[in-house]
Amino acid sequence: MAIIDLLEQETMQEIKKEKDVDAVRPVLTLGIISQLSGIPAHSIRQYIEKGLIIPFKQDSKRHLFCLNDVNRLKHIHSLIHDKGLNFAGIRSLLAMVPCWKIHDCSEQDAEQCDAYNSNSTPCWEASKKGRICKNEECRECEVYTFLSHSMDFKSMIRGSR
Ligand code: SF4
Repeated sequence: MAIIDLLEQETMQEIKKEKDVDAVRPVLTLGIISQLSGIPAHSIRQYIEKGLIIPFKQDSKRHLFCLNDVNRLKHIHSLIHDKGLNFAGIRSLLAMVPCWKIHDCSEQDAEQCDAYNSNSTPCWEASKKGRICKNEECRECEVYTFLSHSMDFKSMIRGSR
């Protein structure tokens, strides 16, 4: 077994033992999630800056992450390094997810939402969100969490029909 796998297993076990972690609890620091995902901290900071991942914030403004974010980071990394997309390409891809269908927005609601009208910004980055999303916690929304579980964009779009 590779050293990185051993490290990952040990770190995961330790975290689970000490913090009673479930997949969505924000208990991982930038350093730990960098170890678990194998992605350098400076790349993760870039992903945050580009709006591809939303960290939990503490009062101290220190970023925290959950176990689901490990997969999300790996998927983003793979879109860049295996599929050859750049940040703008990933943002455009995410902007194409039809959140208005998944949330069953009326035409009137959708037209008042920046997410519906933008081809380049993921919905969670929209400056003016529609009535349905205005008070939603994007980190918990299936549109946002989709990339933490899969990169099968076609199935997601088919499923929203
Ligand atoms: S709640 Fe956030 S992530 Fe979900 S569809 Fe609305 S803007 Fe997008």
